[in-house]
Amino acid sequence: MSYNKTLLSQAQKNLPVNYLEDPILKNFLEVIEKTYATYEKDKRITEHAFEISEREYQQANQDLQYQIELKRASIQKLKQAIKSLDTNATFFVTESDDNDLMSTIAYLEEQIVKTKVLEAELLKAIEFAEKALKAKSEFLSVMSHEIRTPLNAIIGTILLLKYKELTPDQEELVRVMEISSENLLSLINDVLDFNKLEEGKIVFAEHDIDIFHFLKNIKMAHRIRAEEKQNIIKIMFDDDIPDYIVGDEVRLGQILNNLISNAIKFTKEGTISIQVSLKSQNKDWVTLEFAVKDTGIGIPFEKQQAIFESFTQANANITREYGGSGLGLTIIKKLLELQGSGIHVESTPGKGARFFFDLTFKRSSASGLKKEEAIQNIDEKNLQGVKVLLVEDVVFNVMVAERLLKKWNAEVDVANNGQIAVEKAREGNYDVILMDIHMPVMDGYTATAEIRKFNTTTPIVALTASSSIHDQANIVGMNGFVSKPFNMNDLYSVIYKHVSDR
Ligand code: ADP
Repeated sequence: MSYNKTLLSQAQKNLPVNYLEDPILKNFLEVIEKTYATYEKDKRITEHAFEISEREYQQANQDLQYQIELKRASIQKLKQAIKSLDTNATFFVTESDDNDLMSTIAYLEEQIVKTKVLEAELLKAIEFAEKALKAKSEFLSVMSHEIRTPLNAIIGTILLLKYKELTPDQEELVRVMEISSENLLSLINDVLDFNKLEEGKIVFAEHDIDIFHFLKNIKMAHRIRAEEKQNIIKIMFDDDIPDYIVGDEVRLGQILNNLISNAIKFTKEGTISIQVSLKSQNKDWVTLEFAVKDTGIGIPFEKQQAIFESFTQANANITREYGGSGLGLTIIKKLLELQGSGIHVESTPGKGARFFFDLTFKRSSASGLKKEEAIQNIDEKNLQGVKVLLVEDVVFNVMVAERLLKKWNAEVDVANNGQIAVEKAREGNYDVILMDIHMPVMDGYTATAEIRKFNTTTPIVALTASSSIHDQANIVGMNGFVSKPFNMNDLYSVIYKHVSDR
């Protein structure tokens, strides 16, 4: 066995010369030698271990430095972001202490609490605003309906007065009453419509429109007003326009009626032309351009955009001289926008104005059938032998409608609510039923649905103050509608149409 150098030199120095022959000494030396070897091994292992942990320590230290740097940079960025969001947040943002995460977190916590409070306040404010808007629109809608009921009676009474023998003086007074009440009605309708448009409640119906006939009726409705101001109304209609298109007759009528009323209002001894031309078409769609042109006072260039804003007129004298609320064009603009279109104007002051818009309609499969023409002359109206069931709860409306119908020689039976109407319809044999919508006991929709269970043929025409009844009226099986207050021509035409269709 070889011995460790130190052990060997010590043994040679201190032990007897023949120490290797003594088994005890030899044994002793071997044990020491083994201890040396173990010690050397342990020493090498320990040194190696030290070497490794030193390297790991260096690495860990480097990582830590990097993390600290990253954290510092992040905090700095966070603070800069906070600074740019909130210029007041300078109290904790010291350039020297970019490691100051705790105060940043505290600041953010504070901000979160503040934001939550703000959010709750905002939600409350939104809820309040929504409630206020709802209250406003409910108020407007209730008030307009409430105002409309007596106004119906006034307009109806004026209608009946016109049948009496009147002196020229009285005739003039009746005419003033008629114009004023019609103006009031159109104002109420505008306010109601404006309200509905603001709430986004307008739905466009889709019905076949006999477009030329429709325009002739519109022209007819304005004839008297136009004649009073010595204006003539002309229709210019492209002959390649299809006979029928599919659209919302009521809304299109509303747009054109408004433009024509304005044209008449601002024109004296002139011409109002309703021009309809075919812009484009394919197998499914037809795009028409509608224009209403007058030769009236015109609109100064700088006012030509402002007049489309709500409650805006071209100048301050307009209301005094011509009346109006400044809502008509706003409603037209919104109605067209909802149908993907827009209203435009060209005008030379003193020479006239031209308002125009495009509208695209579906093509209709209807063709050929020409509906009855509007009846122009009151004296020609005759409903001899026609049996009408008038379902209406408001006494004045009953009075006006009943008298008009009797003037036209119709036989009239009255029901004051839907339930009575159902009973009468079961017993009687009517040619047409005129059905009010809002009534006590049973409303007009329910009554119609009940009647349709045993009678599917008698025409039922809704009498309504609102133009948005189409959908439900169709569903329950109504055949048409007349708006209130009654216009003599409309009421007569709708009855005549249904009776002659049978
Ligand atoms: P209103 O007629 O009820 O005042 P409108 O919104 O219909 O409200 O019209 C707004 C304004 O635009 C009118 O007051 C008038 O100054 C001007 N205007 C509209 N149509 C014409 C027109 N055909 N000729 C001249 N001015 C018009």
